[in-house]
Amino acid sequence: MKSPISLDILKEELEDLIDKAKDWALMNGMCLRSKINVNRDVLQFAPFVLFPSPFPREEFQNACDIQIILNMLIHRVAHDYNFLKETLEETIKVDEFTRNLFDIYETIYKEGAAQKVSLGILRSDLMLDTSCPKKDTKKFKPYCCWKQVEINTIASGFGWLGPVSTQLHKFVLQELGYITELSNLPENNALQILCSGMIEAWNLYSNPQAVILFVVEDITYNICDQRFHEFEIRKQNPNVKVIRKNLTQLAVTAKLGSNMELVVDDYIVAVVYYRCGYEPSQYHTKKEWDVRLLIERSLAIKCPSIQYHLAGTKKVQQALAKPGIVAHFLKDEKAAAKVKEIFTGLYSLDFNEHGNVAVEMGISDPQRFVLKPQREGGCNNLYGTDIKDFLESMKSEQIRVAWILMDRIYPPVHKNYIVKPGTNVDIDTKELVSELGIFGVIIGDDKNIIVNKQDGHMLRTKLAIDNEGGVATGLALPDVVHAV
Ligand code: ADP
Ligand code: MG
Ligand code: MG
Repeated sequence: MKSPISLDILKEELEDLIDKAKDWALMNGMCLRSKINVNRDVLQFAPFVLFPSPFPREEFQNACDIQIILNMLIHRVAHDYNFLKETLEETIKVDEFTRNLFDIYETIYKEGAAQKVSLGILRSDLMLDTSCPKKDTKKFKPYCCWKQVEINTIASGFGWLGPVSTQLHKFVLQELGYITELSNLPENNALQILCSGMIEAWNLYSNPQAVILFVVEDITYNICDQRFHEFEIRKQNPNVKVIRKNLTQLAVTAKLGSNMELVVDDYIVAVVYYRCGYEPSQYHTKKEWDVRLLIERSLAIKCPSIQYHLAGTKKVQQALAKPGIVAHFLKDEKAAAKVKEIFTGLYSLDFNEHGNVAVEMGISDPQRFVLKPQREGGCNNLYGTDIKDFLESMKSEQIRVAWILMDRIYPPVHKNYIVKPGTNVDIDTKELVSELGIFGVIIGDDKNIIVNKQDGHMLRTKLAIDNEGGVATGLALPDVVHAV
């Protein structure tokens, strides 16, 4: 994909531009807490790529359009007890973390949930795939099509860093006089839509005194992303207060009121928004698990509720790719076909014929695959020869069923400048690949969907030679779509 923006810039001009862009990022809150300098009062700009990355316009629009269907699919999956139980049955025998989540789900399912409504803030992550078998188009050769990396149902971040990157790139393009190119950066209303979703859930709760609780990590590195959500909520409705607690604090302070209200420090909580709770290390002791159950029992509207959390597991993603499953959840054939089109090959490693074949495939051609456990937050997957080694050693071990095998997507490579804090200006371009995240918001219960909308996106870009990328892990860089 060829961008009309030239990367050929004189060294001095480039250094000056990078300097200015860094200051713009710092002064506009495109920042993270540093993991090296642990002073909570110090922020650094989030590493970024200097120019927006070229994306085929039509494909970008297609990715946005399909999100409403994906929202509905996940909502239905989350409300199908038998499907979740059957899908996760083998996994939870060996994966303690998923089992703990499932135990909470089963407890609530048997007790009957006090709050039937869930708030889903979803982010479907996609990559363009260069090995797409579809036709060539005039503009893009080889033709690329979207493949879904995963869909996130918990702590779907970047509602702020996504849109602020658009503003930064607009500034950079303006500085270079690319005024006509500005209209090729798609609008990004991620922050507005995610916060309006939380406020809509708050309205449904119908208690003007109630607050929104953000469940946060012990130290939040991605603090701007979270705080700007809080500020935006206040902006959209000044009556809505946000409180922030980690699971350990909640284990001490959270309790249930007489009508199952969630009470935290004398506040009644209308909506619980998890930015934490998706990995085992965030539950230090049983107390953190106990409070997750307590919250789940409560009348507060959860984002996500436990069934939504489970619907976002890699195992569920793999089960959805099996023949006939999407069609079971989406009766509209066209909608089901669109969803199937973005799935890559996903393979179970269960102890049956299919699973055994998948193990052999992974061993004989590991470069074709990614091996994934039931985890979130980046840097948990295996690639290349690690897949071979793992599968060879785990071939007869029950633990292998906690993983899934996925076709590896090879996205198109493009070039850009990387800007990172604390390093000398790097004036060489690097070979990069990008992953697009599309946001969706859905509110509903087992019978009705009250809200289902899409707006906003985020783009992360990483070195083509890196296997993984997560902004929090320091490997991926906030970026912007440049429709060409
Ligand atoms: P997590 O929930 O931890 O973010 P992901 O499934 O998104 O897990 O994997 C993390 C990263 O690994 C992705 O952001 C992407 O860079 C890379 N990755 C995952 N699946 C694939 C795939 N099928 N092909 C290529 N890269 C992938
Ligand atoms: Mg994820
Ligand atoms: Mg991911």
